[in-house]
Amino acid sequence: MSERKPLDLPEPKEEGLTRTVKSLRELIDLVTGRTFQAEMPQEDAGLAEVMPFPFLALVGQAEMKLALLLAIINPLVSGVLLVGPRGTGKTTTARSLVNLLPDVERSACFYGCLPEDIAAGGIDAVCPECARKFAEGVPLTRRDRVRLIELPLNATLDDVVGGLDERAMIHDRMRLKRGILAQADLNVLYVDEVNLLDNEIANSILDAASAGSYTLRRGQVAATYRSRFTLVGSMNPEEGNLRPQIMDRFGLRVVVRGLDSIADRLEAYRRSRAYRLNPRATVAQYQEDTGFAREEILSARALLTKVEIPDTVAEAGGKIVQALKIDSLRAEFTLLEAARAYAAADARSQVTLDDLKQVAPMALRLRRSQFMIQYFENQSNEEQEFQKILNNLTSDAQEAD
Ligand SMILES: [Zn+2]
Repeated sequence: MSERKPLDLPEPKEEGLTRTVKSLRELIDLVTGRTFQAEMPQEDAGLAEVMPFPFLALVGQAEMKLALLLAIINPLVSGVLLVGPRGTGKTTTARSLVNLLPDVERSACFYGCLPEDIAAGGIDAVCPECARKFAEGVPLTRRDRVRLIELPLNATLDDVVGGLDERAMIHDRMRLKRGILAQADLNVLYVDEVNLLDNEIANSILDAASAGSYTLRRGQVAATYRSRFTLVGSMNPEEGNLRPQIMDRFGLRVVVRGLDSIADRLEAYRRSRAYRLNPRATVAQYQEDTGFAREEILSARALLTKVEIPDTVAEAGGKIVQALKIDSLRAEFTLLEAARAYAAADARSQVTLDDLKQVAPMALRLRRSQFMIQYFENQSNEEQEFQKILNNLTSDAQEAD
């Protein structure tokens, strides 16, 4: 036994990770990975998990993983909804997604000013601080990793879309403060318990997600913010339903159940334990493969624009939707866009019928409304009744002639 390890810590897999622990404080920091959190920018505290569980270390749940990958390859898939009971790894999986995303160029300013703003609207389009930086040739953006922004359950509409900046109002200036949706730009927005969300908030999130931007108006001031994010929602159906109009706007839906096999469950336990004891070592163990996966996602994204759907495959997609009696046009849209992402992920530029079959369940489930099917049936009965009465009326009139 090595003298340096007072506790049975998992053996770090890579060189350079072993270190001497001098105090209990340091040990706690080491095993909890807290040493990394100190490096976090203060403004993001509480918003992002610094060392998420590696995506590739997740056991099973193939469909959940596939849906999330398709959503990050193709933004037109319009997000993923994870439906299932507690403790099935929905949140862990959503958090783990950020490691797979390549770095982005992000505004270095609290107000989200970008060089494009100046290109489009002149120097007044950015805040005074950024105008000064621009004049001095200081870059307004910096390269940054993708974060997971988690929407707090008690968030208000002002928190979500933004509102008047009270600090600026002290100086008699009307200025807007960006909200969570603007912070989510180029990030992953995770909305846990989306079914418990206020209507207005849910709609503002879904509107921003589909448009990639939103405009905030307060009195005389208005501002448009970019909000290009991958939306991941989760809900536990035991705690209430999601209104059909909200449900319809999530591209892919995965019904997440607990792992079936005992072997899988024990493997999940072992990996989760290793991660809790030493997140850094677990992350390091999967680092190389995570890097490869990230590269593959980049190539799939690059290929996506070239992926085509042959007419026969598109028609087959239409037939599936028709057979399932789904009304929403979003069904075909998501189905075909998910199939394109699937083909791109497989490094092909043509969608096959098999691609369609792979993604159809996640694109189409929970879209059919029993209520609407019943409603249309009743309606059709009523129409027939009308026709009968109207026809009788005509024949009565003819007999009277
Ligand atoms: Zn600025």
